[in-house]
Amino acid sequence: MLEQRRRRTERLFLRYPIQVAGNDTAGKPFGETTHTIVVNRHGGRIVLKAQVSAAQTIRITQITSGRSADFRVVGLAGPSADGGAEWGVECHDENVNFWGINFPPLDESPDSSSVLLECSGCHEVALTPISMVDYDLLESAGILVRKCGTCQTETEWAYSLNPTRVPGPAMASVAAVAAPPASPEVSPAVRSDVAPTAAGAERRSSPRVPLRLPMRLRNSQDVTDLTKSENVSKGGLAFTSGVMYEIGETLYVTCPYDAGGSHIEMQGRVVRRESVAGTGRYLYGVEYQK
Ligand SMILES: [Zn+2]
Repeated sequence: MLEQRRRRTERLFLRYPIQVAGNDTAGKPFGETTHTIVVNRHGGRIVLKAQVSAAQTIRITQITSGRSADFRVVGLAGPSADGGAEWGVECHDENVNFWGINFPPLDESPDSSSVLLECSGCHEVALTPISMVDYDLLESAGILVRKCGTCQTETEWAYSLNPTRVPGPAMASVAAVAAPPASPEVSPAVRSDVAPTAAGAERRSSPRVPLRLPMRLRNSQDVTDLTKSENVSKGGLAFTSGVMYEIGETLYVTCPYDAGGSHIEMQGRVVRRESVAGTGRYLYGVEYQK
């Protein structure tokens, strides 16, 4: 019922560290430190080792912000690759902006694009629908000028380099955790069409931006796959697909993909694959090769 009343919003693969407290199915109180897999306006999907059940209430504290709220367990998504299980959760109070991100309503059209931007005036963070012209501006100038509802005026928005670990090609790296907060100075460096340097350390230090762009994949078996990126860095990107690719497999990536436009294809290698519980899809990390 809650899902019907609330408009579905876009979602992001963001790994926020969280603390969860509640009672397990045996009625015993539990508390565990875990993380999110996906976040949206009203909740998301989290990993839990404790046994819980649908419709029960749990208390979630976001460790980075200290924000706490009661959530309803919506349902089991499936087993987690990290042990335990993945559960859908939804905040009881729909007016709470728990993750500190403004999410737009869900747009399921295949060519819609969105990016996590931060207002330079008030530091509001929003997953912002963008056009390809906006994307080109962001890539060349590093900023977009648009109206901010909080500042009540036109302000400069730049890529939000979320301090959270964003899943991507260098998942094992802690570089993304240490990524500097968003500032227009660092943003022009975030370019998906620049080849990574040979040094792995430098590659891992490149910021990863939650950026959802239409993309096309080809492999050597001539499988062609249209999907969307989840996040993009200089050295590669992450995306979900229902197609099973092998670790180490070579993929030819066009991102952004515009059916009517010209295409720059990058050669990359699958460096990571994780099944996305309950969806039949996989989350991939691809590293570009030069
Ligand atoms: Zn603002």
